[in-house]
Amino acid sequence: MKKETGNVESIVSSNGVKLHLFEPSNRKIWTVVGKDNEHWLDLDLGYCSCADYYYNAMEKGRQCYHLQAVQAAIGQGKVETVKFQDSEFESFISALVQDIM
Ligand SMILES: [Zn+2]
Repeated sequence: MKKETGNVESIVSSNGVKLHLFEPSNRKIWTVVGKDNEHWLDLDLGYCSCADYYYNAMEKGRQCYHLQAVQAAIGQGKVETVKFQDSEFESFISALVQDIM
């Protein structure tokens, strides 16, 4: 498996952290564009869709670098926010899931 550390700063500086904000419910979907593909995160659950999270975070209580990148981006005010209507939520999710699978 590739080593994925050291990517947090490059993700943040390339504006790879995006917040998809659905209105009026204020539902939030976070995505992080890594080197190879895009991952879906839920900050409330501390969840990320990447393999690193699956293999390391759940067993060892470690955060993957995507979760770290989101927190760093929030801290630095580098979050790119994209607004959607709630009616777009379902098609957004199914497109996202297809991307990831
Ligand atoms: Zn991750």
